This record gives sequence, structure tokens and C-alpha cells, in this order.
Amino acid sequence: MSENCIFCKIAAGTIPSRKVYEDEDFVAFHDINPAAPVHLLLIPRRHIVSLQDVTPEDASWLGRMVALAPRLAQENGCNPGPSGGFRLLANSGAEGGQEVPHLHFHIIGGARPWKGRVAPNA
Ligand code: 5GP
Ligand code: ZN
Repeated sequence: MSENCIFCKIAAGTIPSRKVYEDEDFVAFHDINPAAPVHLLLIPRRHIVSLQDVTPEDASWLGRMVALAPRLAQENGCNPGPSGGFRLLANSGAEGGQEVPHLHFHIIGGARPWKGRVAPNA
């Protein structure tokens, strides 16, 4: 847990969020400013700043985190099959567009067009 980290506080429950999933290692919740009909954030409970800080030793939990994404997408309104789908996005570092310095995957989906911050084909 990092003192002033908003996502550590969300994971701990000291800042409210609309959680859709939690287990020992991960928490998922609705993005406060959704860019599409479905916009979840999936985070590790452990404070790690971004993918820039990942090492080969992290492969196991990171693999589990990636594998969780399709399940959360489908359970939370992303449409199944090739005509549905979702976008998995990890902004990393300032030039990567990251604003909250706690590693997170955006899980973005739902019927097009998306009118939010995520451009249709960006
Ligand atoms: P980044 O730009 O770091 O990849 O994305 C951070 C995301 O976190 C943004 O989409 C933003 O809307 C979301 N966010 C920022 N603060 C909060 C918050 O307090 N609660 C929730 N649920 N989402 C937040
Ligand atoms: Zn944190």
C-alpha cells in the first residue's frame, strides 16, 4: 500500500468505488469517467506503478490478471464473440498517457459508437 495512492485506497475500501470483482490479488471497479458503455479498471492490490516496473518475476500474477480481463468484460456487459469484444489498455508512464500511478488495465467495450475519450479506432 502506497500512502497517497488513490487506487491503493480504492482497493482497501477507504475511497468508495463501484467494485465488480475482488479477490486476494486483484480488484476491478467501474471507471469514474467512462469512455464507452463498459469501462472497468482492473488493478493488482499490490502497489506497482506501471508496466515499466514489471520484471520477469511478475509473469505469474500478470498472466492471471490478463486472463481475468475477458471474464470481467463478459460479466459486465461487453458483447461476446467476434462481433462483440473489448479493448484492454494499459497506459504506462507520462508519455503513455498514464494519470494514476498504480498499474491498471482499462477494460473498455460495449456497442459502438463510443462517444467518450477513447476514439473509435485509436
Ligand atoms: P490512466 O490515464 O491513468 O490510464 O487512467 C486513469 C483512469 O482512472 C481514468 O480513466 C479516470 O477516469 C479513472 N479514475 C481516476 N480517479 C478515479 C477514482 O477516484 N475512481 C474511479 N473509479 N476511477 C478513477
Ligand atoms: Zn497504489
